[in-house]
Amino acid sequence: MGVEEKLPSGVLLTTVEGLFGWMRQASFWPATFGLACCAIEMMTYGAPRYDSGRWGQEVFRASPRQADLMIVAGRVSQKMAPVLRQIYDQMPNPKFVLSMGVCASSGGMFNNYAIVQGVDHVVPVDMYVPGCPPRPEMLIDGMFKLREIVQRQKIGSNAEAEITEREREALTA
Ligand code: SF4
Repeated sequence: MGVEEKLPSGVLLTTVEGLFGWMRQASFWPATFGLACCAIEMMTYGAPRYDSGRWGQEVFRASPRQADLMIVAGRVSQKMAPVLRQIYDQMPNPKFVLSMGVCASSGGMFNNYAIVQGVDHVVPVDMYVPGCPPRPEMLIDGMFKLREIVQRQKIGSNAEAEITEREREALTA
C-alpha cells in the first residue's frame, strides 16, 4: 500500500501550508513611508523601546520591491492616493495592508475634499488599527492579529486569508 493510501487526503499539503504560513507571518518587511502624525508612533514601534525586531518585523524597506507589508500611517490626501497605489502595485505578492489610525481608516477629523475618506478606497486593507494616534502597543496588537490571518492564508493565494467573516470580526473586535 502506498503512502498516499495510508494518509488521509490533504494531510501533507496542510502541513506544508502551515509551515509556510508560520514562516511568513514571522518575517514581515514593511515599506518605509509615513503620511502624518501616526507615523511617529510607527517609528516608535520600530525603535528600541518597543523593538519590533523581537517579532522579525524591524526591516523596513526603502524599496516597495522588497516589501510585503504597507502600513498606512496617517491621513491620505487626494494627491497622495495615486502615489500610494503605485507603491502598492510595485510590491510583490503576497502583500498586506494595515491601516493605522482613524484618519487612514475613515478620514477621521478631516471630513473634507482634500482627504481620502478611508484608504480602502485606494488599496485593499487587511487590518485596521483604531486610535488617534494608536500607541505602539495598538500597532503591535494589530500586527499580531494580521499575523494570525497570514498564518491561515493558502499558498499561492493573494486574496485575503481564508477565514470566515465571524473570525475576522473576532480578530478586529
Ligand atoms: Fe494624526 Fe490622529 Fe490622524 Fe493619526 S489619526 S494621522 S495621529 S490626526
